[in-house]
Amino acid sequence: MSLALSNKAKVVKPSSTLAITAKAKEMRANGLDVVGFGAGEPDFNTPDNICQAAITAIQDGFTKYTPASGTQELKEAVCQKFEKFNHIHYEPNQIVISNGGKHTLMNVFTAILNPGDEVIVPAPFWLSYPEMVKLADGIPVSVYGDQANSYKITAQQLQEAITPKTKAVILNSPSNPTGMVYTRDELEAIAKVVVDNDIYVVSDEIYEHLTYGDAEHVSIASLGEDIYERTITCSGLAKSYSMTGWRIGYLGASSQIAKLIGSVQSHATSNPNSIAQKAAVEALTGSQDSVEKMRREFDTRRQYMYERVCAMPHASALEPKGAFYMFIDLSEALSMSYKGEKLQTAARFAEIILDQYQVAVVPCADFGYDDHIRLSYAIAMDQIKVGLDRMEAFLKALE
Ligand SMILES: *Cc1c(COP(=O)(O)O)cnc(C)c1O
Repeated sequence: MSLALSNKAKVVKPSSTLAITAKAKEMRANGLDVVGFGAGEPDFNTPDNICQAAITAIQDGFTKYTPASGTQELKEAVCQKFEKFNHIHYEPNQIVISNGGKHTLMNVFTAILNPGDEVIVPAPFWLSYPEMVKLADGIPVSVYGDQANSYKITAQQLQEAITPKTKAVILNSPSNPTGMVYTRDELEAIAKVVVDNDIYVVSDEIYEHLTYGDAEHVSIASLGEDIYERTITCSGLAKSYSMTGWRIGYLGASSQIAKLIGSVQSHATSNPNSIAQKAAVEALTGSQDSVEKMRREFDTRRQYMYERVCAMPHASALEPKGAFYMFIDLSEALSMSYKGEKLQTAARFAEIILDQYQVAVVPCADFGYDDHIRLSYAIAMDQIKVGLDRMEAFLKALE
């Protein structure tokens, strides 16, 4: 058969983070004791009160279609959360509930992009952003944040990257993969450029509850009326509430954008799972104690991991301030050799450390940096210890 397939679908790369996790899982199934630093999800159970709300929803027969863009009850809960936590005012008709944070973002690009529109993607970036932009007929444009500026882009870099075709810039703070957090001052400067050039900000705040030390989460939409109008604030339940499998994401935007996204979603997927929506109401309005408990545990692991990696040869990292990742610079290690073979790329480093030391790490070429890896600390402390011991042994074996 010679029927052509979609060119757009063909240029999309499969998610390499999921691929590494799958390979580590397979090795584990074959009896190998693999330490997986690849995890992009919290290792905790979903808190009990949230699970209980879902069980009640099933018992009450809340198992039918809901409005396509989400229930009024959940939209109101999201509005309350935006008001209290993010200091942004949205009305329920400005909210869309979707099947996870990824789906929320995909909907946004579908709703705001026309063919050829450029979207500025600060690098390192979460690997799905450029692929999503391409799927929505846009053109991703990378702007590299300096390591000296904690891999964050400056307002000036943003200004220099803007062309007449620029439609939006993506912000992800706290960041996957770097764990860095934009300060209020940095966001104010970026907001000014956004408003002056009349573009959108797609602000992915999925890690908003996970900040450490003196880092503070600031929502760019809270910084004034002009930036509020140009921001689509995206978040979800997956990371903060350990609800990755439940698939609930949401956004706040102008009522016009929310309506467009609601229409798209009404044809593509209809409503997100009714039971998960009930669980999400409990997550957002119930006790937040479990969120703080998980955050503290992440913080303990973060500090341990940072100390250990700083003491390792041929690798370096900045102290992460948010999310649950550490972004490690291997440029020195990659100029060295393992058993006579020069490593050269983080991808090769990741292959060897998985095969020879049973440690899964994420090479970051697809995040825009082929000499860095990402380690997740969303795994148990004893695993972190064993994994870092092995990584140290591997680094010491390089010559
Ligand atoms: C995990 C993640 C998301 C959303 O994940 P979902 O499971 O689809 O809710 C969005 N952005 C970033 C940067 C993430 O790491």
